[in-house]
Amino acid sequence: MLKLYFFPHPVQPSTPTLLRIRTRLVYLVRPLVRAEVLVRGLVQGVGFRPFCYRLASDLGLNGFVRNTGDAGVQIVLEGERDRIERFLELLRKEHPPLADVRELEIRWMEARGERGFRDLPSEPSVLGRMSIVPPDIAICERCLAEMSDPSNRRYRYPFTTCVDCGPRFTIITGLPYDRSLTSMAEFPLCDECSAEYHDPSDRRYRAEPTCCPRCGPSVFLCDGSGKRLDVGNPLGETARLLDEGQIVAIKGIGGFHIAAKTTEDRVLERLRRNFNRPQQPFAVMSLDLEAVRSYAEVTVEAEALLKSIQRPIVLLRKREDFPLSELVSPGLDTVGVMLAYSGIHHAVLSEGRDPAYVMTSANLPGLPMAVDNGEAISTLRGLVDYFLLHNRKIVNRCDDSVVRFSAGVPVFIRRSRGYAPLPLGLRVQLRDGIVALGGDLCVTGAVTKDGGCFLTQHIGDVSKLETLIYLRSAVRRLLDLLRVGEVRTVACDMHPSYSTTAEARRMAEEFGAEIVQVQHHHAHLAALAAEHGLAEIVGIAADGAGYGPDGTVWGGEVLFVSGGSFKRLGGLRP
Ligand SMILES: [Zn+2]
Ligand SMILES: [Zn+2]
Repeated sequence: MLKLYFFPHPVQPSTPTLLRIRTRLVYLVRPLVRAEVLVRGLVQGVGFRPFCYRLASDLGLNGFVRNTGDAGVQIVLEGERDRIERFLELLRKEHPPLADVRELEIRWMEARGERGFRDLPSEPSVLGRMSIVPPDIAICERCLAEMSDPSNRRYRYPFTTCVDCGPRFTIITGLPYDRSLTSMAEFPLCDECSAEYHDPSDRRYRAEPTCCPRCGPSVFLCDGSGKRLDVGNPLGETARLLDEGQIVAIKGIGGFHIAAKTTEDRVLERLRRNFNRPQQPFAVMSLDLEAVRSYAEVTVEAEALLKSIQRPIVLLRKREDFPLSELVSPGLDTVGVMLAYSGIHHAVLSEGRDPAYVMTSANLPGLPMAVDNGEAISTLRGLVDYFLLHNRKIVNRCDDSVVRFSAGVPVFIRRSRGYAPLPLGLRVQLRDGIVALGGDLCVTGAVTKDGGCFLTQHIGDVSKLETLIYLRSAVRRLLDLLRVGEVRTVACDMHPSYSTTAEARRMAEEFGAEIVQVQHHHAHLAALAAEHGLAEIVGIAADGAGYGPDGTVWGGEVLFVSGGSFKRLGGLRP
């Protein structure tokens, strides 16, 4: 293919007063090439295609982008080779924050005459197989900037979001990831939002939860009995109430928090009394790192994690001169800290005076966190002074994740918001259609599909019926979202009286699946082996009680684990 290039001739003054520019016409033969690129990883539902569209358009490349059936994306690019290489370089370096590019497969060939760049709709067969559900991530800097700009139409609007940020998993009712299958379906886009949503050059192009004060959900404040109060700025009023020492239940992204100020003992005493939590440490939330540094020690690693798009609670060492009430985490030298991650939190905290506010899950001991307005009011009435509510449904409850550092390495205490329901990166071959339900404390469910192990959000202790039902529905939702056609195996603990064991039997019967009961300590060590891709390990499971195959309760165990079997080498007496 022939391309014409015009180069301006160097400017040569021919007379002192006259500049003459001559143009020289040069013919260059520069072949156009075609690159067919397959991208694998977390690339669907995360703004990856709009990103490709903008990048290709900026670089003047032709071709198209579309989803593939294995949860990947196919990009076809035509143009000059150096521009395509530039595209690929930027794709690796500057892809959307939530996207995780694990594999790029590139095939070069001759151009076939693509014209323009198109974002092609997915084929129905492709949609039917998609198996990655994006998690919720923190609001991005650009949306925050809009929220704090008085001239912007989204000024102070707490549901501001774009293709790079905001809720995903917690609002999804089904796949494909599309507004019609989210709890935003009941908020039709206004003209302005619709124009942004349909404009491939806009960062709200195909941003499913996008909205504005005109067309989106809204927040409102209620008193302790659930009666709606007539206040102009419910978010600012909430900050004022908190600073006054009131306890407020705040509906956020994946559930409710109980919020309170952290600098007054009497407020925390009342909070602990009301919720019957005499000792349990409370997580706190701050607006920015500067505030966190005023009461906790922040290492470089912790800073990165606090500011990450997942925004987990990170356990930090308290400063010697800890200025917050000791009742935040009584008797501990650590405090669980997260940075504000939603527009609602930013709006409240930016108007408050305390360096941190308690933000603990709004649940009664042993029960799942409240997600529904009516349910929250009936459960928490009399325990909190106010409710900050909104009218968007939380489809999937999702608690905050908790991470601590062990020898400088981040370790999950709870893997939930920001991470669930992404698959674990296990180095082991997994059959599809396995469901695992775990033991009875700190439970999460797991489902295998396309070789990946997908975990539910954090469920909790399943001794109460409500929590067991939560586990059941979370596993169901995952099976639906991942389109697992057939459940072949249900795995559970060996303990005969755990409610998860009974649940596993029920599920196995329903699906006609086999049931596999795994010894508790064996399960812990097998998980370790799978995480590190080891076929055999000798491990110490320093975990509490676990039912043994001999019918007695085992304590800490030393086991030789070889895949599905193990040998007991030693252990502590029960
Ligand atoms: Zn954003
Ligand atoms: Zn709108």
